[in-house]
Amino acid sequence: MELLIGGRRRAAADGSTFVVREPSTGQELATVSQAGLNDVNAALIDATTAFESGVWADQSATARGRVLLRVADLIRQNAEELAVLEARNAGHPIADARWEVEAAAGTFEYYAGAANKLFGEVVPVQDPGIDVVLREPVGVCGLIVPWNFPLLIACWKVAPALACGNSIILKPASLTPLTALRLGELLIEAGVPEGCVSVLPGPGGVIGDALVSDRRVNKIGFTGETSTGASILRASSENITRVSLELGGKSACVVFADSDWEKAAAETPMAVFANAGQDCCSRSRIVVERSIYDAFVAEFVRTTERLRIGEPLDEASEISTMISPGQRQVSIDYIGIGTGEGAELVSGGTLPREDGSYLTPAVLAGVDNGMRVAQEEIFGPVACIIPFKDESNAIHIANDIPYGLSGSIWTKDLGRAIRVSKAIRTGALSVNSNRSVRIETPFGGYKRSGLGRQLGMHAMQHYTEVKNVFFSSE
Ligand code: NDP
Repeated sequence: MELLIGGRRRAAADGSTFVVREPSTGQELATVSQAGLNDVNAALIDATTAFESGVWADQSATARGRVLLRVADLIRQNAEELAVLEARNAGHPIADARWEVEAAAGTFEYYAGAANKLFGEVVPVQDPGIDVVLREPVGVCGLIVPWNFPLLIACWKVAPALACGNSIILKPASLTPLTALRLGELLIEAGVPEGCVSVLPGPGGVIGDALVSDRRVNKIGFTGETSTGASILRASSENITRVSLELGGKSACVVFADSDWEKAAAETPMAVFANAGQDCCSRSRIVVERSIYDAFVAEFVRTTERLRIGEPLDEASEISTMISPGQRQVSIDYIGIGTGEGAELVSGGTLPREDGSYLTPAVLAGVDNGMRVAQEEIFGPVACIIPFKDESNAIHIANDIPYGLSGSIWTKDLGRAIRVSKAIRTGALSVNSNRSVRIETPFGGYKRSGLGRQLGMHAMQHYTEVKNVFFSSE
């Protein structure tokens, strides 16, 4: 597959390509053009020219919204193709991939409607006249995304950026560029002006860094590792480029004895092990009141061991392969670190198949929150179950971590739900549920989990600049 530069398919300027593999087999899935610095420059010229011409930014917000609705329709019309591509390239169970594609369409639908609902303000100032606050598109947006939810996370950035009238250059992860390239084609087919859309697969250290460092880029929207986010912040400081960062997590699911804890034990395994644990919102620290700890662990393990592990295209699969042998090895190493620190491996951690990068969900019990397995993001199917003695101890454990992305509280006591949800320092919490990402609500992190919020109307703030204009009546 070729690059998309200014809406048109092109080979890389230097002719480079790279091989994209199917993680379930390790076999080649596609050969993709590999962008270099000349391609970044070409995309930036097109994006800047398109933005300055007003071909997209000067259309009415309603007109932009109509185009984004067509994108949603086109995603749905091509849903099965996209889902199969995502399942094969990212190793997702096909049922999950179908859900992700529908959520991708829903994201465009939401921002189609949001486009003409981002209002400015009229401020009652003391000077005679009228003072208005305008929201204007920020300009050229470099959008850098990871491999764990390649299409969906791309849409979370592309849709609000376009809704606000910006040009976009999308940099997919090198392991998973295929659905991003297809999305780029659908944007053009829907009517987004060509110059406003480029998709540049290529090494993050080259393409990503070039986007972050170039003064023609006005905004970087990034999702990925905390360490990469920190290097992006440093690189963006030269030009004071606007940056929003969605980074790692190590979220707590706090289960009180007064909750429907059997329900929590039945539902929480998929909150850790879905997408083979490669999920920034994974509730990988399960913090359980001591009086129910043993019974909870037993029920959690029973549910975990019933999860169906299978190939991505098997309709029955609930968990499939990890993205790569290297990513699996990280989890295996952490299981060893955890048992070496004194935790007990009570289930999983074995290799169920010879092919691919499969790993059975691993459950570590008797974990202390100070252990490395509890403090560091593993990004794989490893659950740490940590006991607590009372409410304040539960809050302390939930907060005693450098991250703050999501989390859950299970309790039937409303007062406790309010107290604990106010006390936990994290960007998204669910009470008696493990879901924390919704198109309509802000999503992002406290502490080392990021900067800014995506989704909901909050994302629109990040893709606009604020301009104040005073009209004198004197
Ligand atoms: P990385 O940070 O390694 O990569 C993310 C993207 O950044 C890729 O496109 C990568 O390109 C690119 N990149 C790499 N180096 C640079 C650089 N120096 N400058 C600019 N761009 C660069 O993350 P992963 O792909 O490994 O994704 C997993 C991580 O993402 C986990 O830590 C996870 O928690 C986090 N994540 C956070 C989410 C959130 O919303 N908070 C959601 C999902 C994931 P290339 O692929 O070519 O290396």
